[in-house]
Amino acid sequence: MSQQHLVAVVGAGPAGIYGTRKLAEAGHRVVLLNRDIKPGGLAEYGIFVDKEKMKTGLRKQFKRILADPKVFYLGHASVGRDKALSLEDLKNLGFSAIVVTAGAQGTKKLGIEGEDTIGVYHAKDVVYHYNFLPPFSQRTFEVGRRVAIIGMGNVMVDVANWLLNHKKIDHVIVVARRGPIEKAYDDSEFEVIEPYLDNRDMKQEIERIAPQLIAVGQNIEEITRKFVRDTEPAEGRRLTFRYLCSPTKVISNDQGRVAALEAEENVMVLQDGKTVAKGTGKTHCIDVDCVIYAIGDQVDASIGLPFSSLL
Ligand SMILES: Cc1cc2nc3c(=O)[nH]c(=O)nc-3n(C[C@H](O)[C@H](O)[C@H](O)COP(=O)(O)OP(=O)(O)OC[C@H]3O[C@@H](n4cnc5c(N)ncnc54)[C@H](O)[C@@H]3O)c2cc1C
Repeated sequence: MSQQHLVAVVGAGPAGIYGTRKLAEAGHRVVLLNRDIKPGGLAEYGIFVDKEKMKTGLRKQFKRILADPKVFYLGHASVGRDKALSLEDLKNLGFSAIVVTAGAQGTKKLGIEGEDTIGVYHAKDVVYHYNFLPPFSQRTFEVGRRVAIIGMGNVMVDVANWLLNHKKIDHVIVVARRGPIEKAYDDSEFEVIEPYLDNRDMKQEIERIAPQLIAVGQNIEEITRKFVRDTEPAEGRRLTFRYLCSPTKVISNDQGRVAALEAEENVMVLQDGKTVAKGTGKTHCIDVDCVIYAIGDQVDASIGLPFSSLL
């Protein structure tokens, strides 16, 4: 067998745990340091609460890997600048290698006016909250009755699922830079919130943006067939979409809470065969009590690795 090493792995999400398994299988000893007490990362604290079967299956696999006597798991052990241990500390402890698998813990913002208003949240914080990760589990999220979610990926679907099925709020408005075809969520994931879709509003919305969609060669009949059903929103709760809109400002009321989201209307242009949103300068306001960013995450630079954003 090749030489055995002692390796530090930072972060016990799926990447860290499966990396640990590979290292242990190769005969190395691993110290796995994790910010959270429980292992699993977003498989534990991200995947939606209702997906119990999936989560239980993953927990079983993780448990089996962590039970290897060559693996030492340390929960509640954050690594980084101003954390319990820095990368420098780990280097000085004499590990043969340090593997960083800390996920994307940095939050992305849009840099618009009013972003710090009470009632503006990042999706990951909300997701951590309903998945019971301290300290987010103890935080109050003042969502109100009407919520704008910015972004249209699977994380938007999870957050809308929580708002409509669990918090039972009145209205979720998905705000998207481009059109229906450019959605990033999977149809199978969307099924859980589809009963709330306000199909009449969706039809009107497609009609509103039809000239922009036609301008980039999209087929309105096909889009209408795919995105509009013949049903009423279930239980009076509504899910609507505002396409071709980029948020420009969060407007607050006199208590300093969210009152509305101002958005710039976009057109789409084709660049290298892809649709790109371009602002028109024309804005409108959407009345909401809360704004949730579901626009992705980024690397947490405070871990101490060289990092630059390509965006
Ligand atoms: C809302 C949401 C829902 C999702 N739902 C699904 C789904 O249904 N199905 C699916 O297949 N995938 C889903 N995913 C994706 C999946 O969970 C992720 O792709 C996967 O968990 C990423 O694994 P990772 O190990 O890279 O990072 P993470 O899972 O983020 O794990 C990172 C780990 O590093 C730890 N850590 C962070 N910083 C430090 C630090 N400084 N020091 C020490 N430890 C640290 C964290 O505590 C965490 O344990 C979802 C993701 C999100 C955000």
